[in-house]
Formats: sequence, structure tokens, C-alpha cells
Amino acid sequence: MKKVIEVIERLKEKNDEPVCSYIYDLDHLKKHVESVTRTLPQNCRMYYAMKANSEERILRTVHPYIEGFEVASIGEVKKARAVNQNVPVIFGGPGKTDKELTGAILEDVKLFHVESIHELKRLAMIAEYLNKKVSILLRVNLRGPFPSATLHMAGRPTQFGIDEAQVEEAIQLSLSYQSLQLEGFHFHSISNNLDHERHIELIHIYFQKAKQWSQKYEFPLMYINVGGGIGVNFSDLHQQFNWNHFTGELQQLIDREKMQTVTIIFECGRFLTSSCGYYAVEVIDIKENHGKTFVVICGGTQHFRLPVSWQHNHPFELIPFANWPYPFERKTAANQEVTIVGQLCTPKDVFAKDVSINQLRIGDVIVFHYAGAYGWSISHHDFLSHPHPQHLFLERETALKA
Ligand SMILES: *Cc1c(COP(=O)(O)O)cnc(C)c1O
Repeated sequence: MKKVIEVIERLKEKNDEPVCSYIYDLDHLKKHVESVTRTLPQNCRMYYAMKANSEERILRTVHPYIEGFEVASIGEVKKARAVNQNVPVIFGGPGKTDKELTGAILEDVKLFHVESIHELKRLAMIAEYLNKKVSILLRVNLRGPFPSATLHMAGRPTQFGIDEAQVEEAIQLSLSYQSLQLEGFHFHSISNNLDHERHIELIHIYFQKAKQWSQKYEFPLMYINVGGGIGVNFSDLHQQFNWNHFTGELQQLIDREKMQTVTIIFECGRFLTSSCGYYAVEVIDIKENHGKTFVVICGGTQHFRLPVSWQHNHPFELIPFANWPYPFERKTAANQEVTIVGQLCTPKDVFAKDVSINQLRIGDVIVFHYAGAYGWSISHHDFLSHPHPQHLFLERETALKA
């Protein structure tokens, strides 16, 4: 964070435009991803779900520490290939077109996560036409019951995966095609989960289901993809998902369930890249309206849509600046609640509502934390045609170039 503040101070000194920047701490990202992957049990592999943030610098930074990339479009396949011609790529997502399936086969995608029976039939046909044998996992939307009822992508009607009631039909169909190799199952049922014990319980269910199906239909279970969905706690930054306890308990579960010979795939997005990113914006106005105080920042949810999309108050930090260029009094909000909003002409452009602050003045800078995943990548950048933020990637010079 110290480094990030120094960069903001430099931006502020230039003083030509109000500060409006995404800042990514790539040194932190390396350290974090390295430590997350290092503690995984031996038969587990970490893929990065690049939809969380597919900026090239981010992909290149995580690449040495992960097994490969999880993608959901041919565009993402190409982004993975631009980083490394041979990096393993696994391809999921509902609604893959024939052209995408063809392109992905030609780009040597390692595993296809098949999301419907119709997709299964199309993939088998395309692979046969190309004279290739492609490896697949069937993505399953489980019926439950689950240890807890807060699943997002499964356990209820969604557009994701094959209904558990149709899985046996899909298995038999998969096994009937020469052009397909059924290698296991894919389960991504939950999003932003903070409870590592619940995550273990879910994975336990995945293990049992996958084993039952592979035994019943007598095919070797090579992979179980347990998805992403490891969360970030935006309301208390000190209480994060306990990854070390999780990986310890996962090792015990693997031993207990005798899953050592199955490769367990993780495809995490948020948990890997969220903490390396900051959205730093300068306060350009403070005003009272109908008894509430609004802090207007230079920027908006067209740059950083995450808080609106998740309907939460996004965590932030204030960086005070003494300099005041105008001849008139500086507007200040002190010891009160404020609502932080952007420059858009919509009441939905809110980052945090009725949050307490000690002191905040026009010209100070607000830094939103945990902006590295689903920040810029999910935002509608050109709504209202404001300028885009700068994107700064901080990285210590690690080696002298020859
Ligand atoms: C979005 C997504 C992920 C990554 O989810 P996170 O919550 O960012 O970890 C993984 N797998 C699939 C299929 C997804 O759609």
C-alpha cells in the first residue's frame, strides 16, 4: 500500500487533471498467487479464470505460478495464447458457438467444459470433422441438498451446466462418441464464498458424485473441476477466506476419499487478482442534498462497476492532500456519514452509501481496495464518454535486461 500511496502522491503533484487511476501492484500479485498455489495439495492444479481481469500484464504476472488459464470465449483463448503458445487452457461457459468450438480445438484447448447436451453433440461432430479427439468434462448443475442454501450457479435453476437429472444421459452419450474423451466433471456452484469449511463440504459432495458416476459407467475419473468462487470479504478486510486451513482440510479430504490419483482443478478469479488492484480517484465536489452529504469523485461506476453490481459499500481509504489551489474556502465533510458517487448522470452511480468518515475534503483522494478483479473488466467504459482512467502496473525491476 505504501508504494501505491507514493504513486498517488506523484500523480497529485503533477496536478494537471484530478487523479483517476487503476493501480495494480504486480509484486503483491506474484507473492499472493505464489503462496496460494504453493499450499495446494499435490494433486491439485490452479487455473486462473481470466474473466476476472484479462489485462495482459496481469496474465503475464500470474502465468509462471499457475497451471493455466480458464477461458469462456475464443477471445479469451487468444489472450491466453498471446501470453504463451503452450499454456494449458480450459474452456467453459454457456453458449459456445460452432466457430468458437472449432477455433478452440485448433488452438489445442486442453479440456472443454460441456454445458448442455446440444453442445455435447455439436462438439462431438466438430471434433470428428476435424479428425481430433477432444477431452471433456461435463459441467453439472447439482440438485442438492447442500450444506447451505447460498449457491449461486447451481442447486437452483440457472443457465449453467447440465441438470443433474440429465447427467447420466450426457455420460452415456459422451461415451458413445469416438471423437470425445470423457475425463470427469466440472462443478462451479458458488460465488464469493468466505467460509472454508462450507467449501470443503461442497467439494466432498463433488467427489462423491463424480466417483459414483465414473464407477457406474466404468470410465476412469481423471479430473474433477471444483470451480472458483473463493471469496473476498469486502465488509471486513481482516477476515478473509482462510486459505491455509482450507488447503490443510482439503488434503485430509483427499486422503479420506482416496482421491490422490484424480487431478483436482481450481479455476479461481477473484481470489487471485482482487487484492492487487486499487481504483484511486480524487474528490471533485462535496454537497448536501435533502439532508445527506454526497462526495463526488472524478470517475464513476463506468470504470468500477463492482460495488453496484454486488450492491455493497466498497472498502476504501482516504489520502489527504494539503494543497488547495483555489482562492476560496475548501469544502470539508467531518465526522459524519457520506455517500460516495461518481460523475455519471444516474442515481445508481454509487460506490458506498452512508459511510462514516473522519475528515474528507475536496482535493483529497479516495482509494478503493480490492479492485483487481471484476473492476475495469465488467464496466461499461464509454457510458457518458468520460475519459478512461490511467492503468498503472507497479513492478520492481527484477532483472537487468541484457
Ligand atoms: C466466473 C467463473 C469462475 C471464477 O469465479 P471466481 O468467483 O472469480 O473465482 C470460475 N469458473 C467459472 C465457470 C466461472 O464462470
